[in-house]
Amino acid sequence: MVYAETGTESLSWRTKLLTRKYLINLSYKPHNPMHKPFIQLATTTTQCKPRSSPGLIKELDFVKSLGISLVSHQLHLPSTYKYPPPSTPPDCKTSWFPLNKEQAMACRHRTTNLFITLNSSAPVTSIRAYTDGSKSSTPESTTCAIFVPTLNHEHAYTLTKGSSIFTAEVTAIYQALKFIYDVDDCPPEAIIYSDSSSAITAISSNSLSDNEAVTATREIIASLKSSGTRTRLAWIPSHTGIEGNERADRLAAMECNTQDGDSINNSLSPKEMVSIIRANWATNLLRNQQNCNKSCIQMRTRLGTIKWHQHANRQVAICLHRLRSGHNRLNAFNHRIDPEADPSCRFGCTAIENTRHVLESCPRNEEFLLKILQFFSARNLDLNANNMLGLNPAIDSDSQFKIRNLKTQFLTQSALINII
Ligand SMILES: [Zn+2]
Repeated sequence: MVYAETGTESLSWRTKLLTRKYLINLSYKPHNPMHKPFIQLATTTTQCKPRSSPGLIKELDFVKSLGISLVSHQLHLPSTYKYPPPSTPPDCKTSWFPLNKEQAMACRHRTTNLFITLNSSAPVTSIRAYTDGSKSSTPESTTCAIFVPTLNHEHAYTLTKGSSIFTAEVTAIYQALKFIYDVDDCPPEAIIYSDSSSAITAISSNSLSDNEAVTATREIIASLKSSGTRTRLAWIPSHTGIEGNERADRLAAMECNTQDGDSINNSLSPKEMVSIIRANWATNLLRNQQNCNKSCIQMRTRLGTIKWHQHANRQVAICLHRLRSGHNRLNAFNHRIDPEADPSCRFGCTAIENTRHVLESCPRNEEFLLKILQFFSARNLDLNANNMLGLNPAIDSDSQFKIRNLKTQFLTQSALINII
């Protein structure tokens, strides 16, 4: 419970995640001294007895059970693309829309007009293509789409499950360039309009990339260059009314639902694999935490700390935690430790002195409860321990913080903070 309350994980849970991450990263590093033993371990067919099987085998099997293959992608690497020294300028030009996203959103009319002017300033012979990527969680899919207005060509693709939106954007650019490369006559220039600045930056940089889509795009840019076509990657703001971009966006979004376009069997990059592993790990950890009987753990919907459960003042933070957990110095808990101790209220009530009693019904504390009572009745909330301790997920976070502050005031004024 302390792990959940502090937003940390136990060592055994951390080890699981770190081991799986290590295995994924190791599989991409053929020069690592541990790589060979790793491959031997991953491809071994010998059955070990449960008690003497290496711990890594268990984790390897788990990674496999998530549909991630750590051995087969070795075949795709290394790519044929030769990395030029960082001082060489990239094969493609980049250009950026003069307005940033916010400015472009503010006045869509101005943005579209500006785009039309810029677009018409490029030579007529240049082929323009619009690209976009899309990712949805229900159904889980990653898609991308291209739209080439002059050739009246549009197409959508579905990527491997678990691909990131970044890979989708890069793949869209790759597919557009490939289409232009396969066209019979070579245009002098290809302009790709994309709304992903990270994809454009990654492609045009010279640094090594472990994402196959980036490498493939750099290759096709080099091929286009040798066949006489310059490439320009142009960033444009998305959702600002630029017709071609909107169309590519709609195509990709539609493909997310129908998934009837071409499917691309791209191999996942280590980052994407790690994010699948992490998501699965987090779900399992949360499920594991919810087996706890305490209501302060069961109400959780995600990992990490709950902001209104914390307080800058350490004494208050400890007091709140003790109230939530029920492990405090009130008489009810004292009685659990020492059966001879009297569990009833120290202020003369006959009731048992526990969290609910001191917060809800002890007559001695009533006068200090007035402000909280007003706050609750104004919002139609019941005055009960769960609402007061921030354990009711239906209350919005603004109110949760206000309740916490009122409760802190209550605890200090009634001097309960010194007891609990
Ligand atoms: Zn009492």
